[in-house]
Amino acid sequence: MSIPANHETARINAGQDGPETLSVTALSGVGAERQAQLARLKIHTVEDLLLHRPRRYEDRRHFRAIAALTPGESAAATGRVVAQGLKRFRRGRQSVFELILEDGTGRLHCRWWNMPFMEGAFQVGQELIVYGRLRDLKPRTMDHPETEIVEPGGGPSIHQNRVVPIYPATEGLTQRWLRALVWQALERHAPTLVDPWPGVVPPPFVGRERALRDLHFPGEPEEAEAARQRLALDEFIGLQLGIQRRRRNLQARTRGLPCGGDNRFMRPFLAALPFRLTEAQTRVLRELRRDLSGPHPMRRLLQGDVGSGKTVVAACASLMALESGFGVVYMAPTEVLARQQWATFRHWFEPLGIPVSLHTSKGSVLTIDTEPAEAPSRSGSSTARPRPGIALGTHALLEAGFNPARLGLVIIDEQHKFGVTQREELVRKGRYPHLLVMTATPIPRTLGLTLYGDLDVSVIDALPAERGRVRTHIRSQASLPKVWEFVRAELAAGRQAYIVYPRLEEASLQTGLKAVLQEHAQLERALAPHAIGRLHGQQSPAEKEAVLRAFRERRLQALVATSIIEVGLDVPNATVMVIENAERFGLAQLHQLRGRIGRGAADAHCILVATVLNPETRGRLGVLAENQDGFRIAEADLRLRGPGELLGQAQSGLPALRFGDLAGDLALVELARDLAARVLDREAAKPADVPQPGTVNATGRRSAASTRDPKAP
Ligand code: ADP
Ligand code: MG
Repeated sequence: MSIPANHETARINAGQDGPETLSVTALSGVGAERQAQLARLKIHTVEDLLLHRPRRYEDRRHFRAIAALTPGESAAATGRVVAQGLKRFRRGRQSVFELILEDGTGRLHCRWWNMPFMEGAFQVGQELIVYGRLRDLKPRTMDHPETEIVEPGGGPSIHQNRVVPIYPATEGLTQRWLRALVWQALERHAPTLVDPWPGVVPPPFVGRERALRDLHFPGEPEEAEAARQRLALDEFIGLQLGIQRRRRNLQARTRGLPCGGDNRFMRPFLAALPFRLTEAQTRVLRELRRDLSGPHPMRRLLQGDVGSGKTVVAACASLMALESGFGVVYMAPTEVLARQQWATFRHWFEPLGIPVSLHTSKGSVLTIDTEPAEAPSRSGSSTARPRPGIALGTHALLEAGFNPARLGLVIIDEQHKFGVTQREELVRKGRYPHLLVMTATPIPRTLGLTLYGDLDVSVIDALPAERGRVRTHIRSQASLPKVWEFVRAELAAGRQAYIVYPRLEEASLQTGLKAVLQEHAQLERALAPHAIGRLHGQQSPAEKEAVLRAFRERRLQALVATSIIEVGLDVPNATVMVIENAERFGLAQLHQLRGRIGRGAADAHCILVATVLNPETRGRLGVLAENQDGFRIAEADLRLRGPGELLGQAQSGLPALRFGDLAGDLALVELARDLAARVLDREAAKPADVPQPGTVNATGRRSAASTRDPKAP
């Protein structure tokens, strides 16, 4: 995702030397050396400095008495240095520097291990502020606390008797120096800051200048949070502007291909299905049909929990395009999945005379010939144009050599496994085809709006009825014998099982693989006489396919696999899943894995086996045991592990936010979306190049330098 410069408007309006572009060297006290140190903190301009977010705040109006510090707690204390000294031991190879602070209530020992140079840093008699975790009571001791020397001298200070900012540290820069520099920057340049969207952000949000002042020097700690929220809102507005601008451009420039269809394939297709579509599926199909016959290219995200039946919905959308004479491309993240869907679509579409082809890195297969079956050229004039069909495949579809005819609809399955660029590459194979992306990873709303804000969203929010229940059990490794006993009984009853081990990481490829191979041998014994297959990323596609076919045809009763089975596999008779080392997986991923079972009418069992079953693991896995709802689980995962982990590596579209918190700022994200729309509406209502009064800041100081100033020539 390309992120617009956060304060694009501000930069334009501010002329050449606003804080946005002014180098930090313009501040007094910043020479080449300081500039280099600041650069390590990614601070290049005065604005960078003003946006440098404190890591925490210290309320220096009320210090804890040293005598009142309790072990384990992190706290700030202040006092006078009464003694210090360096001790060396192990023949001088190791050392500890110790300093004793006294505040009238008690003494605090501060220690630094193997940092002998600390000896020169302090003097007896000096006032010192320290911050750290108290580790011992007798005597009261902190190891490696942060320190700040209190400079003598009266008068109000930015370092004392107030809430002070503590910044992410970098070597060579003291907190005091950085704090003073920020103060200087605020004094000199805050008044010239331009509100990037004047009149847009409503109360009670503070203005941007006030926010920056409060970010660094809040009167009360709560003011720092109010400031963060305003600055986060600005970030989110910037993101939303980019997203919505792209969307509006697309709609202004393009027309949607007419892909609404006429039901001539749809009717026989639905009649032949062994089930009826659920209400949720039907509702989504109505939304898709409206888009496909609408004035603009469809850009839609289809969310549906694992097993909710997205494939058949995608098939229906494909039929609408095909009925309208347009081709369809369907991209899946793995070869195994592409082949499975290919088999499904052949089964569904070939009776209708629709060509279904497969494209993978191994090459392409077209399974029915392209001669029109029902209508041999009515008029002799028709040039032998290939009949539009559906092409399924992996990334291979992106290759330059693949050029589908009359591309009307692009479908991307398990969208979160692809990057946004790949999505766009595929779309560019046609002339503004419709786009449907599907995901079973429920995306919490904050992420959805941020990552997919340019997409409309449809949700399949109910599973097909006649599904058995999936019961989830949490067990420790010690109970494995009992687990295998249970699995054996289920296999004997004609069911099938998956046994999953953590993904093979690059580094531990060897050991991970060994685990699967070893376990396979052991399991064959434990589960005898049942036939056990194995599936992992190191196999060739042909091997994988052979194993899966054997499993589908029930020649194998169980599959030992890595998490490559996480996406999309559909074998309804598999009702048991054992996940070993379950604590190593994220919750959302476990939910995906669990989605492989419970696809038929019988009850299913998912057994999570943790190596160590401590309260933390039990609590985390408990979320899964208690919830079937993927959205709930994803929210929990987002809170526990953060957005990067939740979405996985392929999803590189996450914006770098300084102030915004994608796990907690839903209200801000939603507000930003509305405000960004308002900004764009306003832009659209006014001719682009006429300068806008009100874009100049309140003090008017920048106006003389501004190239967009109405008074400027
Ligand atoms: P996902 O949404 O995870 O991709 P699938 O499309 O693989 O789910 O569907 C899961 C299973 O449910 C498939 O076997 C599919 O045939 C079946 N299915 C889909 N829709 C229905 C329905 N309306 N009633 C019964 N079974 C359905
Ligand atoms: Mg699927």
